[in-house]
Amino acid sequence: MSSTWHILGAGSLGSLWACRLARAGKAVRLILRDQRALDAYQAAGHLTLIEPDQCSHYAVPAQLAAHTAPIHRLLLACKAYDAAPAIAALAPRLAANAELILLQNGLGSQDEVAEQAPAARCISASSTEGAYLQAPFAVRFAGQGFNWLGDPLNPTPPAWLDDLSEAGIPAQWTVDILPRLWRKLALNCAINPLTVLHDCSNGGLLGHLAEVERLCEELAQLLQRCGQPTAAQNLADEVQRVILATAANYSSMYQDVRAARRTEIHYLLGHACRCAARHQLPLPHLEHLHQRLVDSLRARGLPCD
Ligand code: NAP
Repeated sequence: MSSTWHILGAGSLGSLWACRLARAGKAVRLILRDQRALDAYQAAGHLTLIEPDQCSHYAVPAQLAAHTAPIHRLLLACKAYDAAPAIAALAPRLAANAELILLQNGLGSQDEVAEQAPAARCISASSTEGAYLQAPFAVRFAGQGFNWLGDPLNPTPPAWLDDLSEAGIPAQWTVDILPRLWRKLALNCAINPLTVLHDCSNGGLLGHLAEVERLCEELAQLLQRCGQPTAAQNLADEVQRVILATAANYSSMYQDVRAARRTEIHYLLGHACRCAARHQLPLPHLEHLHQRLVDSLRARGLPCD
């Protein structure tokens, strides 16, 4: 099997992974959205990785989805709402035993991707690393973190995990990726929408703890009903710990709304509400939160799905 890492999306995480893999001497190919993006990248000539102590450049070759080389391993580094259309466009290039590594936050996009590529192995990732584009093709590594990887359908770790350690990408294989994805989704639902609605940093929620607490109770019920009791354990305590530890930070959803970018609401709070409805579980505070967030996005002219 080819050892090339195809990486779709030269945004924050895609660039961060591409630079570290290239630095370790791994074969990497970027897949960019369209000819305009490819021209802009070729004019820049390289990706730039900005770390606290150094700034380095990597001339990672780039191509479009229409390229013909087969893909054996693909890191899907786009937003959740772009994931399934991106895989649909690449489907003809996927080798019979292709592996897809899905970096998307939230839940729902993983199943949408699997529908588009039923023969591929889909490996989900839950990342706590932080990065943002300081300029096109120049990524700032803003927060050390960790990557949990797992395949809910197959506990066997993939052969390429060593590539990640050689590239200094902190990662571990887990046979229990779903509880991690659910737990992260629940933390996100308890914090991020309220930061948008109250127009505040994470720490600003210390003034709204009763509201946070009510959401945590409902989210814990939902996790139990969805067969994720581990993800439900001590949820309220962890939410409070996260709020305190990240008090000065602005949530990703807050930042998206501030920058008038589409949010991933459909795969976060939207997914939680759809699961509750499917289980006929009434969660009035969560549903009200979802409605308020949809109204707020609509009022700002942003997509609410
Ligand atoms: P991002 O900076 O917006 O990057 C996504 C990139 O994918 C963009 O460059 C986008 O291009 C590109 N893209 C979308 N569809 C494409 C297609 N069909 N072909 C080629 N390129 C395509 O997003 P991100 O921050 O890296 O986030 C990716 C995922 O990781 C999200 O689900 C996010 O929640 C999650 N995550 C991010 C972080 C972080 O610190 N950034 C941390 C943890 C988890 P356009 O610009 O043209 O749309």
